[in-house]
Amino acid sequence: MELSQEKINALRLLVETEPKNIVILSHTNPDGDAIGSSLAWGEALRKKGHKVTCIVPNKYPYYLDWMTGISELVIFKTDSEGRAIKAVAEADMLFCLDFHTLSRLDEPLSRVIAQNSSAKRVLIDHHLNPSESFDVMFSLPEASSTSYLVCNIITALWGAESISAAQAEVLYVGMMTDTGNFSFSNLTPTLYRTIATLAETGINIPQIYNNVYNSFTEGRARLFGYTINRKMRFMRKGTVAYMSLTEEEMRRFWFQQGDSEGFVNYPLTVKKMRMSAIFIEHKDFIRVSLRSRGAVDVNLFAGRYFEGGGHHNAAGGKSFVSMEETIARFEAAVEEFAKEGLL
Ligand code: 5GP
Ligand code: MN
Repeated sequence: MELSQEKINALRLLVETEPKNIVILSHTNPDGDAIGSSLAWGEALRKKGHKVTCIVPNKYPYYLDWMTGISELVIFKTDSEGRAIKAVAEADMLFCLDFHTLSRLDEPLSRVIAQNSSAKRVLIDHHLNPSESFDVMFSLPEASSTSYLVCNIITALWGAESISAAQAEVLYVGMMTDTGNFSFSNLTPTLYRTIATLAETGINIPQIYNNVYNSFTEGRARLFGYTINRKMRFMRKGTVAYMSLTEEEMRRFWFQQGDSEGFVNYPLTVKKMRMSAIFIEHKDFIRVSLRSRGAVDVNLFAGRYFEGGGHHNAAGGKSFVSMEETIARFEAAVEEFAKEGLL
């Protein structure tokens, strides 16, 4: 991963001038990478004297509660004081972290953002095919996480020494969660060198792992067992799997935001599996999550059949029909994909 010097210079011009009002945005259902990159970048900008507000559309999972600075995040959905709307209206600069299209902020936040047309816009992201235009754009799909990008951007601007242990910790969370604890693709030598510089700040890596991965509720453990045992269906000789969860099923297991995180990866532990999907019912739509191994392109699949996108091996989208119809559509889509030799 190579950061263009030209873009770093352009960014420096924006952030090394007089103090500004800055808003950092990340995507709906914010994950470890969305939160980690936002908090670390926010702290870096505050150190330069800027006034920074980090906004996410809805609540983050409870197992990220311990992250330093997370209580200062403005959660748009429950922001009864209008802090987000005020911050966006006053913003001279908007940073979009860990998403590639404003639709990932969902209505009404995406509309609020569209209303501020004067702020400079900067994208820092690693998803495929960004769809809006930005004044400065760091769009690097080969980066394993946005936190890794932010870490390299801070280093390029102000040196690795400028990264505090608190920043290193939240950046590590993002790098760890988006790579499945360093087990997915794009694990480059440079990534491990970057981790080494974070480790030098004295962060406690086993403790970070425990805080994130060994902090679930009993309900989550039982919901996981139920989903795998009762709801996992195989297709095409055990090379494609899908699972579904209705609101009623989730309620039965005291569901909390984040509890289904990672379920979709599990079918890929079966040897021949090439693609896995989970359908999770929400109030107005069904959220689709997709994972794949090797050449199978779920970014393409999500875009074609579920109005979504993401990465080559991890993508998502939405379905606005019933669970039954969503499953039927998925099965038909899988067959079509296979017929074209894409599976
Ligand atoms: P997850 O399955 O973990 O929710 O998401 C996997 C990847 O797909 C993430 O990188 C995420 O940004 C992307 N993704 C998830 N849902 C959507 C969606 O509705 N639209 C688009 N464009 N990308 C999505
Ligand atoms: Mn990410």
